[in-house]
Amino acid sequence: MTANEATAFDRDHLWHPYTSTINPLPTYMVDRCEGCCIVLENGTRLIDGMASWWCEIHGYNNPRLNAAAERQLAKMSHVMFGGLTHRPAVELGCKLLEMAPPSMNNVFFADSGSVATEVAMKMAVQAAISRHGNDHRRSNFATIRSGYHGDTWNAMSVCDPVTGMHGAFGSALPVRFFAPAPQIPFGGEWDPADFAPMEALLREHADELAGVILEPIVQGAGGMRFYHPQYLRELRRLCDELEIYLILDEIATGFWRTGRAFAWEHAGVEPDIMMVGKGLTGGYMTLSAVLTTKEVADTISRGEAGVMMHGPTFMANPLACAVALESLTMLQEQEMAPRIAHIESELRRLLAPAEAFAGVADVRVLGAIGVVEMKEPVNVGEFQKECVERGIWVRPFGRNVYVMPPYIISDSELETLCTQMLEIIK
Ligand SMILES: *Cc1c(COP(=O)(O)O)cnc(C)c1O
Repeated sequence: MTANEATAFDRDHLWHPYTSTINPLPTYMVDRCEGCCIVLENGTRLIDGMASWWCEIHGYNNPRLNAAAERQLAKMSHVMFGGLTHRPAVELGCKLLEMAPPSMNNVFFADSGSVATEVAMKMAVQAAISRHGNDHRRSNFATIRSGYHGDTWNAMSVCDPVTGMHGAFGSALPVRFFAPAPQIPFGGEWDPADFAPMEALLREHADELAGVILEPIVQGAGGMRFYHPQYLRELRRLCDELEIYLILDEIATGFWRTGRAFAWEHAGVEPDIMMVGKGLTGGYMTLSAVLTTKEVADTISRGEAGVMMHGPTFMANPLACAVALESLTMLQEQEMAPRIAHIESELRRLLAPAEAFAGVADVRVLGAIGVVEMKEPVNVGEFQKECVERGIWVRPFGRNVYVMPPYIISDSELETLCTQMLEIIK
């Protein structure tokens, strides 16, 4: 196939994320990736500002992750998890619990972030019904607006009703309770009024609720918003009082993206159930995990079903677990806090000039995430064409142009990435 034929086949036959078959955005043919660079078939090198959507934390084609995959490949890439277990799953579970909130005790390995959301919600429903004397009314969820939890059915139902897929799926989605998104930004001055709508909602509907689900501190794909940690402390207190489970979605925020190993640490608030994914395998393949307390796990097991009702075919895939184990080992071996603090201060310095641009509404940075929020929606196709011409890779959505590079990015790569991005924005 010639390059043109391959591009034409891709356009005519392959779906890409959220893409029209009538008016598809252009795609660029990638040949290989290394370190912080995406190399196109025509030889163009792009500095990656997206870490392939939060995942590629150690950079592409990492020798240690490659070696871990090869070692595991020589043993088995997969074996069923029903009745069998293996070292990669055991050792990964062990390492995850070392890094996770101390109260976490049980690990459920799932296929992707969205599936982790489904599993977390199922856990909460099973545990809540069991906890409340088999009261089946305890099966709904509350969340905040501007959230994102994935693309599967129940995950969609707790995504932001406007930027999520509620419009497209209308009455097909289960109806959840939404509180306004927190308004006090991270680093702002706390005002108890920010939590009042959630408090009112939970008090009114407590006896219908299994859990509250939200992204801690950073709302990612639903709006790239950073909110005040006190919101989570208030929520924890109220969830305890009303016997509602607190589910923290750390799929995007986990593994140091916000400057801490997990974002809950900014608030010191431990969840009852927590999901991780995205960066878990260092961006090598899809794997997620749902962590919970012994109390939740045992409450499920004492319930009517007597077991946790989920079991994916590729549960705890050994190849993915082996790579994830190596990725977490690499994180533990490095001084991650100063590394991310350095990226954060560089992002602040390099993105600050955008505050003066006419079309820019806000510039904000937390950890290894830098956001330039525009006043108007960005034309993704045009923006990305400019990016490729300038040797960077950034994919805006809505009004947000943002970067969250691999942690291995060099100072000069980060500078090129940010200055070129600002040139385009200008
Ligand atoms: C990406 C994301 C998901 C969904 O993960 P997938 O692997 O894409 O299914 C869920 N929650 C959050 C916070 C995410 O950023």
